[in-house]
Amino acid sequence: MEINVVILAAGMGKRMQHHENKQFIQLAGYPILYHTLMIFQKMKAIHNILLVVREDEMSYVEKNILTLNDFSKVIKMVKGGKERVDSVYNALRSIKGEGLVLIHDGARPFVKEKDILRLIQMTLECNAAVLGVPVKDTIKSVDTNHRVIKTPDRSLLWAVQTPQAFELNLIKQAYERRHAHSMDFWDDAMLVEELMNHEVKMVEGSYDNIKITTPSDLAYGEWIAKNLTNT
Ligand code: C5P
Repeated sequence: MEINVVILAAGMGKRMQHHENKQFIQLAGYPILYHTLMIFQKMKAIHNILLVVREDEMSYVEKNILTLNDFSKVIKMVKGGKERVDSVYNALRSIKGEGLVLIHDGARPFVKEKDILRLIQMTLECNAAVLGVPVKDTIKSVDTNHRVIKTPDRSLLWAVQTPQAFELNLIKQAYERRHAHSMDFWDDAMLVEELMNHEVKMVEGSYDNIKITTPSDLAYGEWIAKNLTNT
């Protein structure tokens, strides 16, 4: 069974307020994207990595990140799209054959190997699974005037992360169908839930699998890199 990983690094990262793409910022001595790539490069279970980057940043990534290690599993750099969904679609279209695909944010450099393995196992059993954690805060649903509409049962709420993993042809078909719909899709699994009417399983991950989004995440990321192991 071929296991592919799509690593997304084609975002603008505006919330980071930094002059360069957030995935190129140094964390614990290396670019964030280097850490993310290393996790999957080292895993025996992973066969291929497709790296999605902006077209004008491809040569930068080639020179400044891919030369830092023998990233032999990176079989292709794919051109990113306008929105995240467009970037994912470009990558999915370039994967042929059958197998699984894990879709992961390049800005999540702390995902643990043991969690990825449990996610793969669940996807082999039921074709679609995501990593996530139970929410710590109470979540309220509000309307456009910030009026609270309801307070869902916290014991049933999870914050979803990446990787999100799918049987390849299931997610490809979901992405093909999205053009016929005008709704916003907040993550990859939502396309499978809404457009394929297919069950998605939640696999418990780790709270340190943060997405580096704002400057304070960088400081927290440095702390995670120093104090926690990746296994
Ligand atoms: O913007 P946000 O942090 O939610 O993006 C999540 C991931 O998707 C990031 O790793 C980002 O680089 C990637 N992305 C992309 N193409 C886009 C937008 C976001 O690859 N057009």
